[in-house]
Amino acid sequence: MKKRYSIIIVPPENEKKPHQIEFTITVKKILIAGAALFLLAVSLLAVANVIQAAYINGVQQKIAYNEALEKEIEAKKLEIERLTEMTAAINADLQAIAEYESEINSVLDIAPSSGGAAERSRGSSDRREVPVAGNLDEAAVHVAAYTQSMKEIYSASLVFNEKLRHLPTIYPVKNGVLSSNYGYRANPFGGSSSEFHDGVDFSCPYGSPVYAAAAGTVTSSSYESGWGYRLIIDHGNGVVTFYAHNSSNLAQAGDVVDKGELIAYSGNSGRSTGSHLHFGASINGASVNPLSFFNK
Ligand SMILES: [Zn+2]
Repeated sequence: MKKRYSIIIVPPENEKKPHQIEFTITVKKILIAGAALFLLAVSLLAVANVIQAAYINGVQQKIAYNEALEKEIEAKKLEIERLTEMTAAINADLQAIAEYESEINSVLDIAPSSGGAAERSRGSSDRREVPVAGNLDEAAVHVAAYTQSMKEIYSASLVFNEKLRHLPTIYPVKNGVLSSNYGYRANPFGGSSSEFHDGVDFSCPYGSPVYAAAAGTVTSSSYESGWGYRLIIDHGNGVVTFYAHNSSNLAQAGDVVDKGELIAYSGNSGRSTGSHLHFGASINGASVNPLSFFNK
């Protein structure tokens, strides 16, 4: 005979009599198995809960990461906008530099560069194409090319400056008044004849400082019967100036003088009708109007 077990359910006091459930060992086993299943289910739920919590945590981390990425993308967009604007500004500057470069090249008459600024040409009618940078890297390349170009322009400007220093472009007296022009004129000593005036006269007080109209080497400092005290300066490239009727010469033959350097004092020596400076010039031995250099 099978063992029987009982479960007695006792209701609250004075309500009903206790209720007794009887069951065999088989039922007991079923109950134990049910309880085991219940425990297993609870355990599985707990595990699922842990997994779910981990998953949610992962998702939350991804959301936070995505939010950070979105912020970063927004910042990058702003940065790209800023770089684009900067590139546009650099292109505008490159345009301005290219125009100045072209003008300066034209003024200084600089030969086209072969190395530095690529595709460079000169002259207002033959401007090089203004480079347009698509990005800052390209802009850097163009800027480097222009830097090289500026170096060449600087060197050319030094040469130009040196040439200018040797061209007679400043007046030899500061307080003079042009009293006689270059060319044929009536004989200042009277009569109906005319003479060729080989220079210009500046009327000025006796003893006025006389300055070299350009840098050069004094080739003659002497008294001549017609010119009186006369100074001749060779400026190179065939250009010569001379200063006559001085009261005294300060510079001597062989002296190297700078543009604007004091070389003599004006006077009335030689064949002269009054205190003045006679200023003459020649190119390769041919007489020219000394003031012809001034407007170039
Ligand atoms: Zn004269």
